[in-house]
Amino acid sequence: MFATLSDRLADTFKNLRGKGRLSEADIDATAREIRIALLEADVALPVVKEFVGAVKDRARGEEVSGALNPAQQIIKIVNEELVTILGGETRRLRYAKTGPTVIMLAGLQGAGKTTLAAKLALWLKEQGKAPMLVAADLQRPNAVKQLQVNGERVGVTVFAPEPGNGVGDPVSVARASIEQAKRTLHDVVIVDTAGRLGIDAELMKQASDIRDAVDPDEVLFVVDAMIGQDAVTTAQSFLEGVGYDGVVLTKLDGDARGGAALSIASITGKPVMFASNGEKMTDFDLFHPDRMASRILD
Ligand code: GDP
Repeated sequence: MFATLSDRLADTFKNLRGKGRLSEADIDATAREIRIALLEADVALPVVKEFVGAVKDRARGEEVSGALNPAQQIIKIVNEELVTILGGETRRLRYAKTGPTVIMLAGLQGAGKTTLAAKLALWLKEQGKAPMLVAADLQRPNAVKQLQVNGERVGVTVFAPEPGNGVGDPVSVARASIEQAKRTLHDVVIVDTAGRLGIDAELMKQASDIRDAVDPDEVLFVVDAMIGQDAVTTAQSFLEGVGYDGVVLTKLDGDARGGAALSIASITGKPVMFASNGEKMTDFDLFHPDRMASRILD
């Protein structure tokens, strides 16, 4: 991801090398190129406008620094603005003060929720937590089984409706899981919810009902970075329909152009908290805006 954006920005900065001072025309030309690079990377237009505006203002206003040449100065500004639109500081999970911490996952089918649930459980285990996975996705016939398989891969208990007991309803399953976690001393409960191929009212209602039943400490919206501009639209719909505290970007290992990663925090005002970047259970980590910005400008 970001290969094209990285290359385009590198070319832009190359043109500034050797300049002693930046003229107004240099700044305009650079801003234009950054704008094109971001639009090509599928960054949402309002985000591009804000970004380029901020870079331009700062480039004009910046004191000439003895330590940095003009190209370095622009790179520094772009770096800092990238960190800002990516959400600023790394946002860490908030754990409940008493009782199990409840993390609810929401998102479209295929976003990578079930995979992510297991990755998050493994990550929490490595942090010394005792997580439990909850199969509250009862829509897709295979979802419970898939979560059980993934849970087994990472050695984490999966709470699922009893076989032979009908399908059950996801709200009751989610509610019962919290009681079970208290009894079995699991300190983090990760509730996987149903996704649909597209946004629909029923999906939003079910997710909201589960949210009301389990009162999560964190609702995480899981979104596939490969869906580009659609990621932003979906993120906005889930924000209105269900609400969430943070975003998880999946499939960052793909060849997405990166627009989703760059737009979502800025447009929704919610931080990207985790990134999932591969099929392996360990391909997952906290999302660090500063590291991502450095990667883009590498
Ligand atoms: P769900 O419908 O939201 O539960 O999505 P799944 O967890 O079933 O994931 C859908 C597909 O995406 C599966 O084939 C996963 O193996 C794949 N997948 C999930 N996360 C990643 C990721 O970070 N990178 C890649 N390359 N594939 C992923």
